[in-house]
Amino acid sequence: MLITDLLQQAQATDQEILDSAYGIENFTFDTIPSPAESKRLRQMRNRLDELKAMKRVALRARVAGKQTRMVLADCGHYTIEVMSTSRGSSCPNCYDRMSNLTEGR
Ligand SMILES: [Zn+2]
Repeated sequence: MLITDLLQQAQATDQEILDSAYGIENFTFDTIPSPAESKRLRQMRNRLDELKAMKRVALRARVAGKQTRMVLADCGHYTIEVMSTSRGSSCPNCYDRMSNLTEGR
């Protein structure tokens, strides 16, 4: 996927960010970006850093003999720590949101 397409989306998924990691890291705007575009690029780069950090943790744990790997939770994020909600699995960040959607009446 093109980075310019990703920038038009309100939220890129972790998979899209990982698939476009090189492009996200090296992307430069041909024209002056809108504030929303530069903000989204910043968000994608931050998330990419988080995902890379998680991969390093998972790798270290594997080397240490622990069963740890990144899992794609139902919320759409990769996480090492999978939480269980009534709507499915979620990462720690989405736990409240995933739980509230069923309980928030
Ligand atoms: Zn999540």
